[in-house]
Amino acid sequence: GCRKIRDALVEKIENHGLQQEVKVIETGCIGSCNLGPLVLINPEGILYQKLVPPDAEEIVVEHLIKGRPVERLLYKDPVTGKSIPRMRDIDFFKYQEKIVLRNCGLIDPMNIEEYVARDGYRALHRALTAMTPGEVIDVVTRSGLRGRGGAGFPTGLKWQFARQAAGTTKYVVCNADEGDPGAFMDRSVLEGDPHSVIEAMAIAGYTIGASQGYVYIRAEYPLAIERLTRAIEQAREHRYLGEDIFGTGFHFDVEIRIGAGAFVCGEETALLTSIEGKRGEPRPRPPFPAEKGLFGCPTVINNVETLANIPVIILKGADWFAGFGTEKSKGTKVFALAGSVVNTGLVEVPLGTTLRDLVYKIGGGIRDGKNFKAAQTGGPSGGCIPAAYLDIPIDYESLSKIGAIVGSGGLIITDEDTCIVDFARFFMDFTQNESCGKCPPCRIGTKRILEILVRITQGRGREDDLDRLEELCLSIKDAALCGLGQTAPNPVLTTIRYFRDEYLEHIRDKH
Ligand code: SF4
Repeated sequence: GCRKIRDALVEKIENHGLQQEVKVIETGCIGSCNLGPLVLINPEGILYQKLVPPDAEEIVVEHLIKGRPVERLLYKDPVTGKSIPRMRDIDFFKYQEKIVLRNCGLIDPMNIEEYVARDGYRALHRALTAMTPGEVIDVVTRSGLRGRGGAGFPTGLKWQFARQAAGTTKYVVCNADEGDPGAFMDRSVLEGDPHSVIEAMAIAGYTIGASQGYVYIRAEYPLAIERLTRAIEQAREHRYLGEDIFGTGFHFDVEIRIGAGAFVCGEETALLTSIEGKRGEPRPRPPFPAEKGLFGCPTVINNVETLANIPVIILKGADWFAGFGTEKSKGTKVFALAGSVVNTGLVEVPLGTTLRDLVYKIGGGIRDGKNFKAAQTGGPSGGCIPAAYLDIPIDYESLSKIGAIVGSGGLIITDEDTCIVDFARFFMDFTQNESCGKCPPCRIGTKRILEILVRITQGRGREDDLDRLEELCLSIKDAALCGLGQTAPNPVLTTIRYFRDEYLEHIRDKH
């Protein structure tokens, strides 16, 4: 409904003759799914929530003309019921640290000048005119940035491998094939701030010696594709892409490749195979893409969120970035907070923030006063975290110790009414469906696991089912060819680990 509200606002502003003084900007998402459609009035930073088109007249007359906030449209504190006019004072926003999402919800993504006005393309200028590729790698390495797509591999090291790899043709690829159920971080960055990704790809191109980049994006993201396409055109028009960028002789261009809906194409080797025009199936590693990637050439492949960090790191420095997060997990992470929490949406917090803070401070607690039961991080590849670990810091090391992963950033919260076996079955159903079928452990193993989970949830479980499940899960983790299969058992293993009694209750009581 946002566009109808925008149109109504534009109309009312014109009716009242304010068009010279007030500009209506359509931005990307500001992150708070449960408050939309919303309007933010700057420079005061006053937020109006859950709007319908007729509200536009009141906002214009009361707020813009008479200077009085419209009380009934303001956000209300869920405990005290008091209005909180300013966005920055609302808990959902107050505890966030926006680096990746710095421009989302603030600028018009279809207007390159708004990006430039927020220091856009300055990092590229600095890299090209004042830094050697080695210096760029040094800054990215010292910042501690790790891949945000799931694996958490150090970005600087990845760039260094690609730079050192032999070959004159190299590529930069952006993985925008975000497929985890409930995750939409990359979509939001591309819809709200596409130039940050383009700028980062050009910096990566300069660093590794590539002149061509590809963004591989899923077809289910039409608005992101539209905005990215426009952003690439504008970047070319303004000569931030193309020949002789900033008169340095460096040339770099970006093209879009649209995925056809296979989850496995988010796996980097399958993604590269798909760009090559072949069936998107993973291939064994090594060789890793940095050495032998797209069309057999050295390739850096980074996900959208990872790239969106790069321009700020170049401008503000490695030490500034490393000041956020924990000793080994630096910077921030964007999570798609969903499920049984009061406040749902995209949140960006320093790595090391506790799960409790995410759920209760930012998420506003569990809906309808219910109890927290578990959180699933990392979507179908991730693990289930029970209430006993609510105070665990969310970072790469801490989560891996308890069998979970940060993953791409999906964070689904469940309440006391959730059946945990059914929850595990949901994720296995998804991965089993998305298994590409190339290797038997994943193709057959995930099917067998799903069959067992289905029969347990239908009250037909057998006494030895848990042993069988664990054995199957461990074999698949060991033997599957790619990350999809290797991580598919995680939700099952962690739910058995933390909710064994609930599985046994289903099996023994036959319900
Ligand atoms: Fe395909 Fe699964 Fe094997 Fe990956 S692990 S190659 S998705 S069958």
